[in-house]
Amino acid sequence: MLTVQLDDIPAEGLSLTWVEERASLLTYMESLSHVDFDFDTPLQAEAKIERAGHSVLIHGKVQASLRFRCVRCLKEFSSPLSSTFELTLYPLKESSLREETELSAEKLESNFFEGGEIHLSEIACEQIFLDIPYQPLCLEACKGLCPVCGKDLNLGSCGCVNEEIPSGFEALQKLKLDS
Ligand SMILES: [Zn+2]
Ligand SMILES: [Zn+2]
Repeated sequence: MLTVQLDDIPAEGLSLTWVEERASLLTYMESLSHVDFDFDTPLQAEAKIERAGHSVLIHGKVQASLRFRCVRCLKEFSSPLSSTFELTLYPLKESSLREETELSAEKLESNFFEGGEIHLSEIACEQIFLDIPYQPLCLEACKGLCPVCGKDLNLGSCGCVNEEIPSGFEALQKLKLDS
Protein backbone atom coordinates (compact mmCIF):
# COMPACT_ATOMS: atom_id res chain seq x y z
CA MET A 1 0.00 0.00 0.00
CA LEU A 2 1.47 3.29 -1.03
CA THR A 3 0.83 6.11 1.39
CA VAL A 4 2.36 9.57 1.32
CA GLN A 5 2.63 11.79 4.37
CA LEU A 6 1.52 15.35 3.79
CA ASP A 7 4.70 16.59 5.48
CA ASP A 8 6.84 14.66 3.02
CA ILE A 9 5.52 16.54 -0.01
CA PRO A 10 8.11 19.18 -0.96
CA ALA A 11 7.14 22.65 -2.18
CA GLU A 12 7.85 21.70 -5.81
CA GLY A 13 5.61 18.64 -5.56
CA LEU A 14 6.26 14.95 -5.63
CA SER A 15 6.26 12.74 -8.73
CA LEU A 16 5.73 9.05 -8.24
CA THR A 17 5.42 5.98 -10.43
CA TRP A 18 4.35 2.71 -8.91
CA VAL A 19 2.71 -0.63 -9.52
CA GLU A 20 -0.25 -2.13 -7.69
CA GLU A 21 -0.09 -5.90 -7.65
CA ARG A 22 -3.24 -7.94 -8.14
CA ALA A 23 -3.17 -9.10 -4.53
CA SER A 24 -3.46 -5.59 -3.17
CA LEU A 25 -6.16 -4.75 -5.70
CA LEU A 26 -8.29 -7.66 -4.52
CA THR A 27 -9.24 -5.90 -1.30
CA TYR A 28 -10.75 -3.05 -3.33
CA MET A 29 -12.37 -5.40 -5.80
CA GLU A 30 -14.56 -6.89 -3.09
CA SER A 31 -16.45 -3.64 -2.62
CA LEU A 32 -17.33 -3.59 -6.32
CA SER A 33 -19.72 -6.42 -6.86
CA HIS A 34 -21.83 -5.36 -9.83
CA VAL A 35 -19.30 -6.42 -12.46
CA ASP A 36 -17.42 -9.69 -12.67
CA PHE A 37 -13.83 -8.86 -13.50
CA ASP A 38 -10.23 -9.66 -12.73
CA PHE A 39 -6.86 -8.11 -13.40
CA ASP A 40 -4.72 -9.48 -16.24
CA THR A 41 -1.81 -7.23 -15.39
CA PRO A 42 -0.75 -5.24 -12.32
CA LEU A 43 -2.00 -1.68 -12.29
CA GLN A 44 0.53 0.90 -13.49
CA ALA A 45 0.15 4.24 -11.81
CA GLU A 46 1.86 7.59 -11.90
CA ALA A 47 1.00 10.75 -10.06
CA LYS A 48 2.21 14.24 -9.36
CA ILE A 49 1.22 15.38 -5.90
CA GLU A 50 1.28 19.03 -4.89
CA ARG A 51 0.24 20.91 -1.80
CA ALA A 52 -2.11 23.84 -2.21
CA GLY A 53 -2.61 25.43 1.16
CA HIS A 54 -4.28 22.81 3.31
CA SER A 55 -5.44 20.74 0.39
CA VAL A 56 -3.57 18.45 -1.97
CA LEU A 57 -3.73 18.34 -5.77
CA ILE A 58 -3.10 15.09 -7.58
CA HIS A 59 -2.69 14.68 -11.33
CA GLY A 60 -2.26 11.11 -12.33
CA LYS A 61 -2.65 8.28 -14.76
CA VAL A 62 -3.60 4.67 -14.18
CA GLN A 63 -3.62 1.77 -16.59
CA ALA A 64 -4.16 -1.96 -16.45
CA SER A 65 -5.51 -4.79 -18.53
CA LEU A 66 -8.69 -6.25 -17.10
CA ARG A 67 -10.59 -9.43 -17.79
CA PHE A 68 -14.37 -9.28 -18.08
CA ARG A 69 -17.21 -11.60 -18.98
CA CYS A 70 -19.37 -10.34 -21.85
CA VAL A 71 -22.95 -9.76 -20.65
CA ARG A 72 -24.36 -10.94 -23.99
CA CYS A 73 -22.34 -14.01 -25.02
CA LEU A 74 -20.71 -14.81 -21.63
CA LYS A 75 -17.28 -15.12 -23.23
CA GLU A 76 -14.29 -13.88 -21.25
CA PHE A 77 -12.25 -11.16 -22.84
CA SER A 78 -9.41 -8.80 -21.94
CA SER A 79 -9.65 -5.08 -22.24
CA PRO A 80 -6.99 -2.45 -21.57
CA LEU A 81 -8.22 0.42 -19.42
CA SER A 82 -6.42 3.68 -18.98
CA SER A 83 -7.51 6.86 -17.33
CA THR A 84 -6.02 10.21 -16.44
CA PHE A 85 -7.38 12.08 -13.46
CA GLU A 86 -7.17 15.26 -11.46
CA LEU A 87 -8.23 15.30 -7.85
CA THR A 88 -8.29 17.78 -5.02
CA LEU A 89 -8.15 16.25 -1.58
CA TYR A 90 -9.28 18.22 1.42
CA PRO A 91 -8.22 17.54 4.98
CA LEU A 92 -10.97 15.93 7.00
CA LYS A 93 -11.09 17.47 10.44
CA GLU A 94 -12.52 15.00 12.91
CA SER A 95 -13.09 17.83 15.39
CA SER A 96 -15.42 19.87 13.20
CA LEU A 97 -18.27 17.61 12.19
CA ARG A 98 -20.62 20.58 12.04
CA GLU A 99 -18.49 22.20 9.37
CA GLU A 100 -18.78 19.08 7.28
CA THR A 101 -22.53 19.48 6.79
CA GLU A 102 -21.97 23.00 5.51
CA LEU A 103 -19.48 22.07 2.81
CA SER A 104 -20.10 23.55 -0.59
CA ALA A 105 -21.33 21.31 -3.39
CA GLU A 106 -17.93 21.50 -4.98
CA LYS A 107 -16.27 20.12 -1.90
CA LEU A 108 -18.83 17.37 -1.47
CA GLU A 109 -17.82 15.92 -4.82
CA SER A 110 -14.22 15.91 -3.72
CA ASN A 111 -12.15 13.53 -1.72
CA PHE A 112 -10.70 13.87 1.70
CA PHE A 113 -7.65 12.73 3.50
CA GLU A 114 -7.29 12.07 7.16
CA GLY A 115 -4.44 12.36 9.62
CA GLY A 116 -2.07 13.91 7.08
CA GLU A 117 -1.91 10.71 5.02
CA ILE A 118 -2.64 10.36 1.31
CA HIS A 119 -3.53 6.78 0.41
CA LEU A 120 -2.31 6.61 -3.16
CA SER A 121 -3.04 2.92 -3.63
CA GLU A 122 -6.68 3.48 -2.82
CA ILE A 123 -6.90 6.50 -5.12
CA ALA A 124 -5.31 4.64 -8.02
CA CYS A 125 -7.67 1.68 -7.61
CA GLU A 126 -10.71 3.93 -7.41
CA GLN A 127 -9.69 5.66 -10.61
CA ILE A 128 -9.40 2.46 -12.61
CA PHE A 129 -12.75 1.28 -11.20
CA LEU A 130 -14.42 4.44 -12.48
CA ASP A 131 -13.45 3.27 -15.95
CA ILE A 132 -15.00 -0.17 -15.66
CA PRO A 133 -17.97 -0.51 -18.01
CA TYR A 134 -21.28 -1.17 -16.30
CA GLN A 135 -22.18 -3.82 -18.87
CA PRO A 136 -19.01 -5.22 -20.39
CA LEU A 137 -19.29 -6.29 -24.03
CA CYS A 138 -16.66 -8.30 -25.94
CA LEU A 139 -17.64 -6.28 -29.02
CA GLU A 140 -19.99 -3.33 -29.28
CA ALA A 141 -21.92 -5.36 -31.86
CA CYS A 142 -21.80 -8.67 -29.99
CA LYS A 143 -24.77 -10.75 -31.15
CA GLY A 144 -25.04 -12.73 -27.94
CA LEU A 145 -26.43 -16.22 -27.53
CA CYS A 146 -29.50 -17.66 -29.21
CA PRO A 147 -32.27 -17.70 -26.59
CA VAL A 148 -33.56 -20.98 -28.03
CA CYS A 149 -30.50 -23.19 -28.49
CA GLY A 150 -27.82 -21.16 -26.69
CA LYS A 151 -25.44 -21.03 -29.66
CA ASP A 152 -22.97 -18.12 -29.79
CA LEU A 153 -24.45 -16.11 -32.69
CA ASN A 154 -21.10 -14.39 -33.31
CA LEU A 155 -19.92 -17.71 -34.74
CA GLY A 156 -22.79 -17.89 -37.23
CA SER A 157 -26.53 -18.28 -37.11
CA CYS A 158 -27.96 -21.41 -35.57
CA GLY A 159 -30.91 -22.08 -37.84
CA CYS A 160 -33.51 -21.62 -35.14
CA VAL A 161 -36.67 -20.35 -36.86
CA ASN A 162 -37.56 -17.75 -34.29
CA GLU A 163 -34.58 -16.10 -32.67
CA GLU A 164 -36.76 -14.03 -30.40
CA ILE A 165 -38.67 -15.61 -27.59
CA PRO A 166 -42.36 -15.14 -28.49
CA SER A 167 -44.48 -13.45 -25.88
CA GLY A 168 -47.11 -15.54 -24.13
CA PHE A 169 -49.88 -13.89 -26.14
CA GLU A 170 -48.29 -14.63 -29.51
CA ALA A 171 -47.67 -18.22 -28.46
CA LEU A 172 -51.34 -18.55 -27.52
CA GLN A 173 -52.50 -17.14 -30.86
CA LYS A 174 -50.23 -19.54 -32.68
CA LEU A 175 -51.70 -22.46 -30.76
CA LYS A 176 -55.22 -21.40 -31.73
CA LEU A 177 -54.29 -21.11 -35.40
CA ASP A 178 -52.59 -24.48 -35.39
CA SER A 179 -55.54 -26.33 -33.86
ZN1 LIG B 1 -19.98 -10.97 -26.40
ZN1 LIG C 1 -30.65 -21.17 -31.89
